[in-house]
Amino acid sequence: MGIKFIPSTYTKASSSTGIVLKKTSKKGIVRRPKKSSHPTMESTLTNDSPKKLTQRKPRIKKWRSSKQHPIVSFPPELFINILYFCDPQTLLSLSKVCRQFAMYLNPSDSSITTKIWRDSRKGFLNNLKLEPPEGMTEKEYCQLSVARGCMVCGQPRIRKVYWAFKVRCCTTCLEKMTIRDYRIESEMGIPSCVLLGLPYVQQQKWAKRRGSFIVRIYSVKQVKDAHKEYKKVPAKERKDWCQRMKIRGIEVMKEVNQRMNDDSNKRMKCIYPLDY
Ligand SMILES: [Zn+2]
Repeated sequence: MGIKFIPSTYTKASSSTGIVLKKTSKKGIVRRPKKSSHPTMESTLTNDSPKKLTQRKPRIKKWRSSKQHPIVSFPPELFINILYFCDPQTLLSLSKVCRQFAMYLNPSDSSITTKIWRDSRKGFLNNLKLEPPEGMTEKEYCQLSVARGCMVCGQPRIRKVYWAFKVRCCTTCLEKMTIRDYRIESEMGIPSCVLLGLPYVQQQKWAKRRGSFIVRIYSVKQVKDAHKEYKKVPAKERKDWCQRMKIRGIEVMKEVNQRMNDDSNKRMKCIYPLDY
């Protein structure tokens, strides 16, 4: 075959970044220049800056609306019916896929969205049989239990949910956002009766002198809020307020303990709505 002999060892080749010299063999076959760890060597050959050699135009993928997945063009009624059969993990993933799916799964004030999440929770999550805690939507409730990672610092693979504080977090973040019971009065100047209505987490500690002992930890935010409420109560009515808080505290902790027990028996169980 007619391979032309090119006497020179380097030929010019135009590129988008400028003129680049390409090394050729004696038979004239153009070879790509080897990547050198010494940019100064290449720059001396090409009389070009080493940065320009590595620059390449990024490939821009064009959006083709005709190639979208058929499920996106499903009628809303049909798609919502499909969502009723999905487990909470799938719903969470779908809510992050595109705006259209997010529109079905994210609104907190939509009765359809609430029903989708509630049906999914009751069908697939045995540990979430109780209704969502006060002030929490169905989606947030499922997300708290199913998702992973610290909700405060973002540390991955954190699963522990502190139902007393309605948060899933690592131990470091828990330390930062809570305070031990015996420190509240001394450090914050808040009387202990303020804590009567608040949920808490019990922790076992060990000290050299005391040995093993149990402390209660409270959320700093909840303590501050309760103190504000306490200060608004007139002095004469504070005794009644404390009684009410005591009853409330017992109910709150009963609910928290129930959720913790359910969590410890946590296991996924798939219930097929149709008998195949
Ligand atoms: Zn954290």
